[in-house]
Amino acid sequence: MLELLDVCKEYPRVKALCDIDLAIKDSELLMIMGPSGSGKSTLLHMIGLLDIPTKGKIRIMGKPVSDLDDKRAALRSKFIGFVFQEFGLSPYLTAEENILLPAVFSGEIDKTSIDSIAESLGIHKRLKHLPSQLSGGEKQRVAIARALINDPKLIVADEPTGNLDSKTGEQVMNVLRGLADKGKAVVVVTHNSEHEVFADRIVKLRDGAITKLLKKKVKKQRNKK
Ligand code: ADP
Ligand code: MG
Repeated sequence: MLELLDVCKEYPRVKALCDIDLAIKDSELLMIMGPSGSGKSTLLHMIGLLDIPTKGKIRIMGKPVSDLDDKRAALRSKFIGFVFQEFGLSPYLTAEENILLPAVFSGEIDKTSIDSIAESLGIHKRLKHLPSQLSGGEKQRVAIARALINDPKLIVADEPTGNLDSKTGEQVMNVLRGLADKGKAVVVVTHNSEHEVFADRIVKLRDGAITKLLKKKVKKQRNKK
């Protein structure tokens, strides 16, 4: 559904990414791994249309993505949901209000969908709470619910378990895995090799280049857990 063709991102003194050819598919969890500074976040920003490549092209459903800010922003809010390490929740809004925020911006508020999303993530009883009243795992579930509220085709997550203990992190990875099983394209940056079992494909980065693209075949084993 989304393709990167020969994508590079150069900063004045750093080549953060070079010669990236990668296709993002639906119903698949693609994991991006690599040492710190290898370009993981830069690559995720390209996939999430948060930044423009200095070379190469990005296509969605075969169509080139415009460089025009307003067109990109509209496409992004309809097509992509974001999850970050720091959760990114407003401390002054309840869980429910945080989740609905992207729908306010896109102008398509559908209050019925929040119930089913919250229920599926196990946070339906926490909707009236402020983030300070939630555990780390609950906060990240709220952030995932917010990423889902506009029913995007693609979810991108940068170190979504980086602030969580290992058990809670595994639960969050299970949630992301479930989204891929339901048809979403899910792209996750992590440097936790224990999470590899949740991935269909793993991209390994080093110095801004793909050094390995591994295919996994672990679905059945994973679902038994
Ligand atoms: P990772 O997420 O794998 O730790 P990043 O994608 O954040 O790596 O960064 C890749 C490289 O690009 C690093 O060398 C980093 O210092 C550099 N970089 C990232 N963002 C910028 C920026 N805005 N300006 C200059 N250099 C940057
Ligand atoms: Mg990073």
